[in-house]
Amino acid sequence: MHAFQRCINPNCNATFDTTEVLHRCSKCGALLDVDYEWDKTPVPKSLDYFEKYWRERAVPARFSGVWRFHELLPFAPIDQVVTVGEGQTILRGSDGVGAYVGVKPGSLYLEYEGLNPSGSFKDNGMAAGATHGRMVGAHSAACASTGNTSASLALYCSATKLMKCVVFIGSGKIAYGKLSQALDYGARTIQIEGDFDDAMARVQEVSKKRGIYLLNSLNPFRLEGQKTIMFRVLEALRWEVPDWIVVPGGNLGNSSAFGKAFIELHRLGLIKKVPRLAVINASGADSLYRLYNEENLRWNGGQIDQAKIDSFYAQMDAENRRANTIASAIEINRPVNLTKCLRALDFCNGVVRKVSEQEIVDAKAQIGANGFGCEPASAASVAGAKRLVAEGVIGADERVVCILTGHELKDPNATVAYHGSDAAFYEKVLGSRGVATREFANSPVVVANDVDQILSLL
Ligand SMILES: *Cc1c(COP(=O)(O)O)cnc(C)c1O
Ligand SMILES: [Zn+2]
Repeated sequence: MHAFQRCINPNCNATFDTTEVLHRCSKCGALLDVDYEWDKTPVPKSLDYFEKYWRERAVPARFSGVWRFHELLPFAPIDQVVTVGEGQTILRGSDGVGAYVGVKPGSLYLEYEGLNPSGSFKDNGMAAGATHGRMVGAHSAACASTGNTSASLALYCSATKLMKCVVFIGSGKIAYGKLSQALDYGARTIQIEGDFDDAMARVQEVSKKRGIYLLNSLNPFRLEGQKTIMFRVLEALRWEVPDWIVVPGGNLGNSSAFGKAFIELHRLGLIKKVPRLAVINASGADSLYRLYNEENLRWNGGQIDQAKIDSFYAQMDAENRRANTIASAIEINRPVNLTKCLRALDFCNGVVRKVSEQEIVDAKAQIGANGFGCEPASAASVAGAKRLVAEGVIGADERVVCILTGHELKDPNATVAYHGSDAAFYEKVLGSRGVATREFANSPVVVANDVDQILSLL
């Protein structure tokens, strides 16, 4: 295989073998990419090449929505990849959500990643990460998680029995759908008295001490799998590049992976146009928003102003600002993939916005009312697109793809609090977060156990 790991800092550019288990460059501490000697590995001449694999769906690696693009992430031989059937997701146009966002009919698409085996896009990355874990002979794997990474890792470990699984979660923050998955799939679940950022710090220390394979989004192999979300978007659009990709930003793994996908497709001559990228923070977890728009932090050819980042986080700690949002999957104040995301924003002429709790839950209700539901974090994409249309940044006739990152059953509390008629529950889950109205609520109707009275309601 002609794959290797490369430091993303262009001043360093150190390279490492794919058999080395590293999460940062051992020379300069920057993040790592998986990179390829593309001239030594077979690259298709056009993207429709991949359609030939549709006929080979009986082969698990070809059925996989990740591995049927193997030529674009060739770090492991195709007969050694790990798959549980991830990536059978769909891109669906939604004029209803489009009208809400403010674009013309035929312009808005939803990429429904909630259809993955564990119910979120994380499975794309986990298929690739577990494959690397297997390559290096890992016996145990760990992650810190706001919920979906742990659900995904637990699923891969229980389905394949390749590794034992330990997941670290913050206290009281995890949505029940996600916690139930980690428990059900048999992961050793360590609930830390702290938040996600604490869990992330501890899992790195513990993994290092015990030689446990770390499957956080710091892991560059995971991000290789997440590139395929973009390949499937292009596939569904018959290989036409949309104008915009809108994605919620938490640890910024997805946005980073999307940027890398387009950098590589462009470099390989497989696309001419590059879509613009919009990364959407929740207002209660807005480090990227502040750094990008207020501090003017940029990729800057790889010369990132680290002092600016350091003083931003020092200030955050001094003010004791903690991430806090109903969108638990993006409730992260120290995004580990910040620098890679800056690169993606740079290449894709990107923008960053933040949306309120109110905007998130209203957008979520509109997504649900138009077919596929999603969890709150996913709805940030639609809320962000709406904002960008209102600002005139996204044009009403541009083609916009919003990534619905996770399934709505991950967090039914958020949905029931919005629609339900239990005032105390509403207050606890939403009202206390500043959600004042429920414009799109579809409340259950209470009626006596009597046919005539029921009929009178219909
Ligand atoms: C992980 C996750 C996110 C955030 O993605 P990042 O890659 O961490 O930015 C958003 N939505 C859902 C449902 C997630 O599981
Ligand atoms: Zn380096």
